[in-house]
Amino acid sequence: MGRSGPTDEEQLGYIDTRIEDLKASTTPVSIDEIPVKFDDINRFFHGDGPAQEFEEGQQKGGHYQCVCGIDVRRNNDLVHAFRIQPLSMSEKKELVTSGYTWKTKNPGKVKPYQNLKVDSLRKELSSRGQEYEETALKDELKESLDKILHGMQRVHSLLYKNEDEDLSKINCKNYETLKAEPLHDIKGHAKNILDELPHLVSKVERDELEKFIQAALGNADEVRGSDIRKAVILVTKYIEDKQVRGKVSEDISTLMKTLAEISHISYLHDVYRCPKRVLRLYNITFLHGLLCIKLISKPKTMTQRKFYGRYYHNVVVHLPEQYRIISLYSSNTESQERVFNAIRRITKSTSSNGLEKLLEMSSSDYMQKKKQDFHLSHLILKFQNWASLFPLVEIQSFH
Ligand SMILES: [Zn+2]
Repeated sequence: MGRSGPTDEEQLGYIDTRIEDLKASTTPVSIDEIPVKFDDINRFFHGDGPAQEFEEGQQKGGHYQCVCGIDVRRNNDLVHAFRIQPLSMSEKKELVTSGYTWKTKNPGKVKPYQNLKVDSLRKELSSRGQEYEETALKDELKESLDKILHGMQRVHSLLYKNEDEDLSKINCKNYETLKAEPLHDIKGHAKNILDELPHLVSKVERDELEKFIQAALGNADEVRGSDIRKAVILVTKYIEDKQVRGKVSEDISTLMKTLAEISHISYLHDVYRCPKRVLRLYNITFLHGLLCIKLISKPKTMTQRKFYGRYYHNVVVHLPEQYRIISLYSSNTESQERVFNAIRRITKSTSSNGLEKLLEMSSSDYMQKKKQDFHLSHLILKFQNWASLFPLVEIQSFH
């Protein structure tokens, strides 16, 4: 357990310790009474933004905020989004270290591509064989370099202290960063949809729908992911009833039903993950993504960039591909976050916030966490039952 500030410089201070632990993880694990040794394979980085960006050396925010390298301005171009082939850890290292700037950088500099002057931009582009107009302005040169690096600022965190680290020796031969995290992605995207929804229906229906959404979200100071998921189910049912009576279009009803089902599948236990359900998630996220573009081409309550930001992108593009390899529910980071939040709360109120109290406090917090986990699983089961009340959206075959 470690504590550090949020900057890359501070967090990179833990890399040596992480590498030591990773090397140790190559030793097979044996368990009493079981005559088999287990080989651990370190496969994923488990976290949400901005921890994902830190791990990959990706910029936080800006045009290139997803670790797959897409330009956020093209998030609603689904043909482009689905064609992006994310680079592996070693391919990214090759790309980020192959120019003039990296080779001549000050060893302590964490983000060498930040704030380059015109001269340096020219040298960098030339060293990469990239042509540019002699009259090109700084912004144009920077845009060219951004397209090449697509948001990479440095090598992967695990390679930062030693770029030539043998990945197989630190048990990271096939290591990659998970790109989606259902709790925050669904929460963020669903909130955006609920904000836009009243503007999709006729003026006659708008007031009542706004009031219904407000009531479904509740009055809590902080709206949690579970509050939003519950509101999605209630609003979906409301919209479906309106559609049956001809008050709203079928597209709007399908937009909500697909959202409710995406949320449902994302919170299913791993035992329910099967090829049929993976295909289903591919189909409904694709249909949902298309309906967003069709119905909300110009959002009324927020910028296009916000609506088609990382939440939309992750839900439509990354959730289904991630579901092929891992249960989405287990890729949530909420359990760990809840433990840290509880530890912080107790430490603040009962001690001088000293590190020496941390372990003591975390053990006293254990029982509380257990109770919360029980509460959470109870909530999820309740929502699963509600969500299963809806008839499935029929998927037409694609030609
Ligand atoms: Zn992406």
